[in-house]
Amino acid sequence: MFVFPVDHPLLPVCAGAHRECSGDRGKHPACQWSRASTTRAAMVRGRAPGNIGIDCGKSGLLVLDEDAAGELNRLCAERGHVRRKKMSEARQTSSREFYYRSRCTTSYNSAASTTTR
Ligand SMILES: [Zn+2]
Repeated sequence: MFVFPVDHPLLPVCAGAHRECSGDRGKHPACQWSRASTTRAAMVRGRAPGNIGIDCGKSGLLVLDEDAAGELNRLCAERGHVRRKKMSEARQTSSREFYYRSRCTTSYNSAASTTTR
């Protein structure tokens, strides 16, 4: 899996590699993630405390966020899709993330998934 360092909301100042922080702490990459993401997770963990981002495109992952319970099932049913078996699932306070192996080699989203540690 390709990972990169990300800001953490408990750090006194955003570690994001940007000019101005939007205040949405904990999701800002601390590097130019699409170039810097690496399979060497120890390198990322060894940096200052922060979150770890997953470069979904390089990692061959598709991550779907579900902000309200049952919305992914509802969307699939509405569009006539059968939901594939997920590879993994992560629960957050008010949402869930479903991880799938991607069959697509094109990245449609510049964002990446973030794991809080
Ligand atoms: Zn920031």
